[in-house]
This record gives sequence, structure tokens and C-alpha cells, in this order.
Amino acid sequence: MKKKKRNDISVLLDYSGRYKWLTYTGMALSAIAMVMGMMPYICIWLAVRDLIAVAPEWSEATSVSRYGWAAFAFAFGGIVIYFLALMCTHLSAFRTASNIRKQGVAHLMKTPLGFFDSNASGLLRNRLDGAAGETETLLAHNLADIVGTAAMFITMIVLMIVFDWRMGAACLLAAVISVIALFTMMGGKNAKLIAEYQSAQDYMSKAGTEYVRGIPVVKVFQQTVYSFKTFKQSIEDYSAKAEKYTGKICRLPQSVNLTFTESAFVFLIPVALIMAPAAIKKGDFGGFITDFAFYAVFSAIISTALAKIMFAASGIMLAQTALGRINQVMNAPELEVCENPETPHGNMIEFKDVSFTYEGSESPALSNVSFKVNSGETVALVGPSGGGKTTAASLIPRFWDVSSGSVEVGGVDVRKIDPHVLMNNIAFVFQNNRIFKDSVFENVRAAKPEATEEEVKKALQFAQCDDITEKLPNGIHTVIGPEGTYLSGGEQQRIALARAILKDAPIIVLDEATAFADPENEALIQKAFKALTMGKTVIMIAHRLSTVTGANKIIVLDDGKVVEEGTHETLSSSGGLYSRMWKDYNRAAEWKIKTAAEVM
Ligand code: ADP
Ligand code: MG
Repeated sequence: MKKKKRNDISVLLDYSGRYKWLTYTGMALSAIAMVMGMMPYICIWLAVRDLIAVAPEWSEATSVSRYGWAAFAFAFGGIVIYFLALMCTHLSAFRTASNIRKQGVAHLMKTPLGFFDSNASGLLRNRLDGAAGETETLLAHNLADIVGTAAMFITMIVLMIVFDWRMGAACLLAAVISVIALFTMMGGKNAKLIAEYQSAQDYMSKAGTEYVRGIPVVKVFQQTVYSFKTFKQSIEDYSAKAEKYTGKICRLPQSVNLTFTESAFVFLIPVALIMAPAAIKKGDFGGFITDFAFYAVFSAIISTALAKIMFAASGIMLAQTALGRINQVMNAPELEVCENPETPHGNMIEFKDVSFTYEGSESPALSNVSFKVNSGETVALVGPSGGGKTTAASLIPRFWDVSSGSVEVGGVDVRKIDPHVLMNNIAFVFQNNRIFKDSVFENVRAAKPEATEEEVKKALQFAQCDDITEKLPNGIHTVIGPEGTYLSGGEQQRIALARAILKDAPIIVLDEATAFADPENEALIQKAFKALTMGKTVIMIAHRLSTVTGANKIIVLDDGKVVEEGTHETLSSSGGLYSRMWKDYNRAAEWKIKTAAEVM
């Protein structure tokens, strides 16, 4: 990465788009407000000066009430302007957060679907949502405060030097010492210790969550102290780091910092004592006292200003980590879309010398896989778990793109087909069904948004879902999915099949589930399969070999390679991997029947 890293804040501000000027306006208003906020101090000092000048004839100080009103006006005006400043920054901050969310989601739409397999979509959404929210403190408050405080500091320094540079220097010395103390606390090798402390804190909270999540397992398996071990260790580790952090790193510098910010006044006294005799000699003791009063009043602002800067700095750090998480989403790879898409002819599917390696994985999940599915044929992918069946199926809809070779649909490389056309031509039913929290009706209709209720009902019927819809309290308008009415795995599978049936795409890719093997569901699912695949080009991944015996062709995948290919008849008698799998399958089926018979 040669490109100079852009300032995080300007990256963040880019998200505010045309609302950026509001942030700048807010910052400027805040500066004005802060400077106005200092004016009452000057008014007080002016009043004190006049009083000292006329002492002890107090009644001659006619201007005092004027200063009083001016002080009030400035204080009030400062508050009003600060309020306006915050209105501006908030408007812009909310826009920015919503733009981040919008752009993030828009970007996610362009990432390959496979990205969501390795990154749970809910987690991504939370990350984006949370991070967008976290930028708000910085944009709505911290930036305005930083600019305001800087303006206040500059005004303060100018005023201090203008009135009497010696007393000004005394006040500033205190500020300089406390700033140095702050930097020694944060910088150098301490930065590493602080990072260690923070990661220990992170780790502890993660271990805590893990522990709570694991409680059911602990209870079931009667685990005892050992289950605490990681959690306990993380707490001890945190405690050690925290002690080091607070004791070794923070104690001295923080004490110095606080002492000097709160007591700038103390520095003034020796300087004043040195200067007093000369002032008396000149006969201007009154003027000297008024100057002294000015610094005494003003030194009080220093600590407020420093505290504000500290607070704002923590806001910047927070926003930086939030931006890091936003960038993770924004930097997710995009699916390459071909500029001049070609139209597929027919529904043939062909794998041509396909190899594919998952990102971050050492060995390929598929190597040199070639096979062909003619229009209207059914091809089954079988083989041991981890053989690469799901991977092969997910290359067709471009969940991932091949590392080498090509996958063709209708004689055209899938990368050259318009993604919408590709998606319209293929219906998928995958192992992990994507049932979302909505009514059965909407869950099925997702495949074809313009479908009528009649069409949806028909699809449900074909998918053998009548028993499900009948028992649901509101029929097909009952909400299912997470937080909705619970459906068993087999039932969810059938709803997913109804969705695919409604889509009525010419190509079907099926990754059959292994987990839901209750016989009643199984028989219904088989019927639904039949309804779905009739007259279609089908690639099916089957775990129950009984479902693949009728396939036009069976491809046996082992360790990412095609090891056998042929019909059930030829393969089952060839003595290879398939015939062994077939024997095992029959033995298991027989065993099931036998035990069932013995029980009866
Ligand atoms: P099958 O469906 O035949 O059981 P898969 O296609 O799921 O096999 O897996 C093939 C290989 O790819 C396995 O070694 C598996 O560990 C690996 N694999 C599957 N999915 C991923 C993934 N998202 N990231 C990395 N490796 C994966
Ligand atoms: Mg699989």
C-alpha cells in the first residue's frame, strides 16, 4: 500500500456527502460559542478593575451593572450559538450514519453470496449498524468541541500574553507541564502496554460471553471447575494488566496532570510576589492587582479546556475503531459483473476443468472437475463428506467464482451472464434453509414477488405442505422463522421447496439435507422433490442414495476430484467407491428395518 493513508476523519466526513458543510458550520459556530463563553470572565474582570479603581468609593463604579448585563448576554448568546452548532453537527452526523448504513448495504448487495456463508449476515448488519452509530459521538459532539476548545485555547493564549506576558507564562507553564504528563502517559512504550490492557479487557468480555453460552453444555456434561478455567484466567490476566496500567503507567503522570491543571493559580503567586514591589514603586499597585485578578480568573479555564480535549480525544479513538469495522464491510470483495453479458442458450450445465480453493485455505476444495449435465437431465453428486459437493453446486450461481477452469450454463461462462438472468434461471434449495421471520406466504413468495395467493397456495400444495398450513393458527399468513412459530427441520425444508417450485426455474440445484430424517417428513420431501424437478435440468446432492438411483448420471466426488462417473447400474457393480457406499447404505437401511421389526 503505497498510497498515503487518508485522515480517518476526512474519510468519515466523505460519508456525509452534501451535508458536510453542516459539520463545518457547526464547528465554526462552536468556536464562536466557546470564545463568547470566555467573555463573561472578561466582564467580571472589567468590573473588578473598575471597583478597584474607585475603591473604597464603591458607589462611583457606575459601569459595574453594565458589565453584569454584558456578561449575562455573552453567556446566554454563547449557549444559544452552541445549541445551533450542535443542531448542525447532529443533522450532519445522523445523515452520515444513515449514509454509512446505506452505502454498506449497497456494497453488500454486490458481494458474492458466498461471502455471507463465512460472514453471518446478522453479524455483518450489527457490525455496520453499531459502527455507524458509534461515529455519531465524534461527528455530533467531539469535532465541534475540539474546534471550539482550540479556539478557546488560542484566544486564551493571546489574551494572556497581551495583558502581562510574565503572569501569562506562569499560567501556561502549568498547562504545558500537565500536557507533557499526559503525553508521557499515552505515548512511547506505554502505548503497547495500553493496547495490551485493552485487548485483555476485550478477551475477558469474550470469554465471559463464551462461558455463559456454554452453560447448557456444562450442565449436561457435569463439567466442574475446568469450565471456568479460561474465564477465570482471562479475569486474572485482566486484573494483572489493569494493575500495571493504573499503577505503573498512570499513577504518577495522572497525578502530575491533575495537580497542575487544577492549580495553575499556584504558579501565579510567586510571579506576583516578584512583580509586586516594582509595581508599588511605580505607584500602580491598583493596576497590578487588576492584572493579577485577570489571571486568577482565567487560570480556571485551563482545566476545563484540557478536560474537554481529553474527552474529545477518546471520541476520536472510538470513531477510529468504528471506521475500521465499517471498512471491513466496505472492503468486502465485489462480484465482478461482465459489461457485455451474453445470453445462455438452453439449460445445459458444464464444468470445464474447474479448480477452486477457498480463500485462506491451503488445499483446493475442487481440483480439475469436469462434467456435463444436458438439458432436462438429472445429475447427482455423491461422495464422502467434505468431498466438495456443496462447493461444486455453489459455483453455479456464483456464490464463489472458480479459481481456474469455467462453469458454463447454456454454453456461456457464468461470469459472462448477467447475474439477474443467471439467478432467474436457477432455483436453489440448500442445506441450510433460509427461512426468514415472516409469514409462510411471504417466505414462499420471495421467489416470485408478483405471485398471487393462489399461485403460492398451489406451490405449497405441490411441496406437500398442506399438513403444515393446516395446523398453523393463521394458515399461510402465520409468521414463522426466528421468533415466529417453530417449524421442524423437515417442515422448513418443504417450505423451501415450495419456494423453489413457485420460482419455476428451468435449472434446479438441490443440496439435500441430511439432518431431518424422520420417515414421515422424508416421504413428503421425496414427493416434493419429484414435483419440483419434473422436466427440469437438475443437479442434486443426495445423502440418501435411494434418491439418486434414477439419476441420468452420478458423479462421485472425493477429496475434490471426480473419482467415478456413470449410472447407478454401472457404478454399483464396478467395485469402486460408489459400490462400497451403496453397500453401506443398504446395510444401514436393512439394519433400520431389522431393529424396527425386532421392536415390534
Ligand atoms: P461436501 O458438501 O461434499 O461435504 P464441501 O463442498 O462442503 O463438501 O467441502 C469441501 C471442502 O471445502 C472441505 O474440505 C471443506 O472443509 C472446505 N470448505 C467448505 N466450505 C468452506 C468455506 N466456506 N471456507 C473454507 N473451506 C470450506
Ligand atoms: Mg455439503
